[in-house]
Amino acid sequence: MNIKKQIISLIKGLSLYELLIGLSLTGRYFFSRKITIQYPEEKTPQSARFRGLHALRRYPNGEERCIACKLCEAVCPAMAITIESEMREDNTRRTTRYDIDLTKCIFCGFCEESCPVDSIVETRILDYHGEERGDLLYNKEMLLKVGDKYEKMIQADRAEEAKYR
Ligand code: SF4
Ligand code: SF4
Repeated sequence: MNIKKQIISLIKGLSLYELLIGLSLTGRYFFSRKITIQYPEEKTPQSARFRGLHALRRYPNGEERCIACKLCEAVCPAMAITIESEMREDNTRRTTRYDIDLTKCIFCGFCEESCPVDSIVETRILDYHGEERGDLLYNKEMLLKVGDKYEKMIQADRAEEAKYR
């Protein structure tokens, strides 16, 4: 190192130049608009097309929409969906088992896209969790419960999405 560089380095060291640069950066962010939020009381905006927790929907008369065509099961790249079905006495086909293993799911949305009756959907719910092995294996009853609980939100999101089609 030549003498000039040594002198500059010494002056910088004695004047705490680097420390002041660091503090100026801290000061700039201290007084600027905050981008952190107080989750879960506050939430950032979400797209109506957000792909979160799955739900199975019903028609307004309470009948489940799913007709057990198994398209969602066939299209799922993660093989996360398992369906079993049977014919009812009225000759309609319905699932007897509809499981989604959320630990396998990659939230690609293919199941939702493939469904001819808008039965399986992905809601905007993202804050769910499991505490025990198997908690993230959602069965038909659990999926219908999610659908029942968030039907209004699902309908509103569908209407919002339709504006951009
Ligand atoms: S979102 Fe994709 S990976 Fe998840 S269940 Fe549906 S099709 Fe399978
Ligand atoms: S959820 Fe839709 S795609 Fe899947 S089996 Fe039922 S009707 Fe078919």
